[in-house]
Amino acid sequence: MRAAFVTPEVMPFSKTGGLADVAQALPLALYGFGVECTIFTPLYRQAKKRLVDNGQAGERIRLDHPVWIGDEAQSLTYRVFSHLKPQVVFIEHDWYYDRSHCYLGVDGQDYADNVARYAYFSRAVMEYCRYVDDAFELFHAHDWQSALIPVYLKKLYAEQTGCLKPSLLTVHNIGYPGLFPAEQLYATGLDWDVFTHDGLEYYGQLNLLKGGIVWADAVNTVSPTYALEIQTAEQGMGLEGVLAHHSDKLSGILNGIDYSHWNPETDPHLPANYASRNRSGKKACKKILQYEMGLPVRSSVFLLGVISRLDRQKGIDLLLDAFGRIAGLDVQLVVLGSGDRKIQNGLTDLATRFPEQVSVEFGYDEPLAHRIIAGCDAFAMPSLYEPCGLTQMYSHRYGTVPIVRATGGLKDTVVDYTARRLNHGQASGFSFSEAQPAQLAEAIARAARLFFTDRRSWNKLSRWIMRLDHSWNASAEAYARLYQQLIETTQTTSGASHG
Ligand code: ADP
Repeated sequence: MRAAFVTPEVMPFSKTGGLADVAQALPLALYGFGVECTIFTPLYRQAKKRLVDNGQAGERIRLDHPVWIGDEAQSLTYRVFSHLKPQVVFIEHDWYYDRSHCYLGVDGQDYADNVARYAYFSRAVMEYCRYVDDAFELFHAHDWQSALIPVYLKKLYAEQTGCLKPSLLTVHNIGYPGLFPAEQLYATGLDWDVFTHDGLEYYGQLNLLKGGIVWADAVNTVSPTYALEIQTAEQGMGLEGVLAHHSDKLSGILNGIDYSHWNPETDPHLPANYASRNRSGKKACKKILQYEMGLPVRSSVFLLGVISRLDRQKGIDLLLDAFGRIAGLDVQLVVLGSGDRKIQNGLTDLATRFPEQVSVEFGYDEPLAHRIIAGCDAFAMPSLYEPCGLTQMYSHRYGTVPIVRATGGLKDTVVDYTARRLNHGQASGFSFSEAQPAQLAEAIARAARLFFTDRRSWNKLSRWIMRLDHSWNASAEAYARLYQQLIETTQTTSGASHG
């Protein structure tokens, strides 16, 4: 089976969030289930630099005809890496993609031409599949940036080619719907008849994700709990009605993690490697992390870590408030994050108030992220909402106990500790239900208490979570099954309509 995997981000070429990790690992895991993916992604500046550094050019393919984005004819150029597994096709368009960030200008605002940039991306993919390689049986689109793929398939290409191919849209975060002024529909080349309340219109604006939800043959999100939550007014971000209306095609498939990159036994970023049967390397990682972050180096302290986009979603405000409540315990906190200036200021203030206990590092730093996950005793994710979350699963793998708010994928992957659950092999962290600083503080205090007073149980918990299976196998199998169903259903319906 061949699938076109259309993603705005993919590691190691681009990344602003967990989608990039998923886009790298899932296509690879799908091979094991008979699915051959081709990844389509924009050739951003950072991707270009990486190719140049590695001396890779790929095969450059240029189509003779342009696509129209609004009233501008844009040429179609691709860089194809057929020898990679999976195959990667970059969409090359320097004006659109050779910029310092994927989506945001230096002012932190969305680029004004984002509709044009991603309408072009989706159109370029479709043109490739029409004129260069038409053997794809299914399109798998991700988030608002490729949510026009299902719309184009049904509204443009089915009419032009007489052939309808199925599509799956994965929603990685409903908080980013791709909302734009109505007049920008012009850039998409679609007729105004799609701009209705059961189409791309959302209270007078253009909502790209909504279009994808309406026209995709199936929609999934990245955990079963989040699939339910987004159908409610609290978590649906205004799209709950559309999602509930299309609930028969909506499902949740939990993300996995990439064990080749996140494995404490082989991780090259760690000062010492370790395994669940011999964890002395973890102690060394803790020491060196404390030293690196400028904190007092003591093994007896309870070291808590956070790695996060600094966005309201991640509940860092709760942590700022909660830390004052637990600072009396022998606790240290290390934070790595980038994003919102106000949250950064709050963290800087916290580190100033508690210089012996709190250390923060701003920026994006993959190796440091690995060292934090390995060196900490526990890892906090107080998210207001969390579609899946990857870092709690990385933490498991590294024997670092997650402390999470029970929402979305965090609820699906972390079972709150009790002595009984630990003995039954069920406990996998600490969790709390309401997004309140007092509840977070209480969960951290419960974890710290176990660490200080019952180290045997703590170590048992830490060893146990290292053995949990978060590999991509189960998820990739679920995706492969869904792909197969969609292909079979499309064949049956188009067969029936032709017959
Ligand atoms: P989201 O996609 O909402 O940001 P996830 O938990 O799904 O959250 O994925 C976040 C990914 O980004 C993880 O791989 C995490 O380690 C990484 N990450 C987030 N912030 C940073 C940072 N400042 N430096 C390095 N890695 C980061």
